[in-house]
Amino acid sequence: MTLSLLSLATGAQEVIEIDWEELGKTQPWKATEVWEPKPDKVTPGRMDLPPSDAIMLFDGTNLDAWHKPKYDYGVRMDHVQSILDYKLNHDDYSPPKWNVKDGAMIVKPGGGAIETKQAFGDCQLHIEWLAPVDPGKESQGYSNSGLFLMGLYEIQILNSYENETYANGQAGAMYKQSIPLVNASRPPGEWQSYDIVFMAPRFAEDGSLESPATITAFHNGVLIQNHFELAGPCIFIGEPEYVPHPEKMPLLLQDHGNEVRFRNIWVREL
Ligand code: MG
Repeated sequence: MTLSLLSLATGAQEVIEIDWEELGKTQPWKATEVWEPKPDKVTPGRMDLPPSDAIMLFDGTNLDAWHKPKYDYGVRMDHVQSILDYKLNHDDYSPPKWNVKDGAMIVKPGGGAIETKQAFGDCQLHIEWLAPVDPGKESQGYSNSGLFLMGLYEIQILNSYENETYANGQAGAMYKQSIPLVNASRPPGEWQSYDIVFMAPRFAEDGSLESPATITAFHNGVLIQNHFELAGPCIFIGEPEYVPHPEKMPLLLQDHGNEVRFRNIWVREL
């Protein structure tokens, strides 16, 4: 088809045939073959099992990978710098207060956010979460939590199944920055998943931004964020602006006062 159209466009009368015998003498296709490096072999996971090279952050049994930070970000943009300074200069953590039950970890309302003990930058991440049935709750009050990449960049966790709220604050939003491409929410009471590819921002030595953080995310297997470039931290109050920070920082799960559940959390560093 392509060759015929090309012939018409150039006024040629005949379709150009490929002479495979002649090409075989020089094998020009080899010039564009790349054989090394070979990608590492990975046994793919089932829906409920992580791949073989994943770092398991929660396997249903304990909170050993997590602790409770004294402070977390997320409320005011004009507080981010001072909180960051504090966190980088103090090892101020206590054991997480969340509960583990029936293979899930459950937000303890008032118990505070939890952070991974390990820091991450560029990563692939899988997390499963469940918004419990909670009649009478609405908008941002119905099963609100959030996964904060590097503690700063939040993909919203919320019951967004027949629950109206601002579009850039619904499930799968990069909070206050990017509306999800579609609403792929399942009803409350059902397990849901996020699969994420996150690239950390890069900062020059003088603290200026070299490249923004980006995120690609799937909600229950459906693309909801397509290489979105973040404008800075995801913040409740104020316009986002980048604050320079280390290449790797802990992941954070938010306590927003609702008993959201989590399971099967794993990450692959990129
Ligand atoms: Mg939230």
